[in-house]
Amino acid sequence: MASLHDELRAGVRSLCARFDNDYWRASDEARAYPHEFVDALTQAGYLACLIPEEYGGMGLGIREASVILEEINRSGANSAACHAQMYTMGTVLRHGSEEQKRRFLPGIASGELRLQAFAVTEPDAGSDTTRIRTFAERRGHRYVVTGQKVFISRVRQSDLMILLARTTPLDEVEKRTGGLSVFIVDLRGAGDALRVKPIDTMINHESCEVFFDGVEVPAANRIGDEGRGFRYIMSGMNAERILLASESVGDGLYFVDRASEYARSRHVFDRPIGANQGVQFPIADAYMDVRAAAAVRDQAARDFDAGETRGDGPNMAKYLASRAAWKAANAAMDAFGGWGMAAEYGIERKFREARLYLIAPVANNLVLSHVATHVLGMPRSF
Ligand SMILES: Cc1cc2nc3c(=O)[nH]c(=O)nc-3n(C[C@H](O)[C@H](O)[C@H](O)COP(=O)(O)OP(=O)(O)OC[C@H]3O[C@@H](n4cnc5c(N)ncnc54)[C@H](O)[C@@H]3O)c2cc1C
Repeated sequence: MASLHDELRAGVRSLCARFDNDYWRASDEARAYPHEFVDALTQAGYLACLIPEEYGGMGLGIREASVILEEINRSGANSAACHAQMYTMGTVLRHGSEEQKRRFLPGIASGELRLQAFAVTEPDAGSDTTRIRTFAERRGHRYVVTGQKVFISRVRQSDLMILLARTTPLDEVEKRTGGLSVFIVDLRGAGDALRVKPIDTMINHESCEVFFDGVEVPAANRIGDEGRGFRYIMSGMNAERILLASESVGDGLYFVDRASEYARSRHVFDRPIGANQGVQFPIADAYMDVRAAAAVRDQAARDFDAGETRGDGPNMAKYLASRAAWKAANAAMDAFGGWGMAAEYGIERKFREARLYLIAPVANNLVLSHVATHVLGMPRSF
């Protein structure tokens, strides 16, 4: 296993070396989607790593996918442009029918079909997913979808979208998590019934508001049973949390690599700034936090690959890794002095990108609440 991971690391590292800081700086400034980078990863097969070989993928596990995303971010690149093509299909793989797998997975594996939009968040529901109001009404062999989603990333670079919608109103279900269903929406045929409006954010992250005004979805595109979608979405979220924790681990190592290199080479007062404990200690402190988060991430990934469905490990990995990366980002900012703020050095771009993971895909307060109630048995605070 170690040699497979080493091989993956080396392959990803050499691919990413073709996309340097100038490439990422230019796409960040232009708020442009990094097509060339995503195409290169697709052609190399990395985005199909989680798809079983029988459907055209590499047939690897979450551990290997973690290695890939960690290396991408450690190189200074931004996995957010492409990570969802890797794992959004997991909902189809784990809960879809054999017919759906055969219909979608080979095209996703080859990159011919882009499934990298995942639509859960809504303006009035926020972190309280069970309050979503987007409704899919059954009419014969199809559903008609009406509602609104926010922060739906990469929808403009997707052919397909995984959608969570209500199929039974909240006040008619016994449990709040009931009455939600998951669909695979073909965006190519939606026409005017689907409207997309980009949201301008502090990072180059293709995220949009999406308005559904009677979008028709064939019943054959519902994943699993009607009303049980919350459970299907949660299993996908566990994978996502482990993988995004890996991106934070990669970010953390990027900052530590860059900061320690700079601290060794930059001389002020006739000595390297890294000879000062005020500079070296925060970098060493952040490094240990990143390593600790990586260990929790590794355990969560091993457990997920072995069939664990609880969210404890993935949530804790995401929380610890996002905080470790943020600590490392601040240590790097301090070590670089004024140059940390200069776009040409890349630190400020990665600083902005690393900040996202304290909030998304789940806000860290919600992770604290999960651990307090589900792991430690304390009462729910809300
Ligand atoms: C760049 C970007 C990309 C995204 N991509 C996607 C995507 O592709 N698909 C998708 O579905 N969503 C996406 N999201 C949405 C993301 O998952 C949400 O922003 C996140 O889950 C938080 O929800 P919210 O923004 O509505 O915050 P809210 O739920 O409104 O929370 C606001 C703040 O209040 C805190 N808070 C809320 N309730 C409590 C409580 N009970 N106790 C303590 N604190 C609380 C939260 O921690 C947070 O800090 C994206 C977001 C961003 C910024």
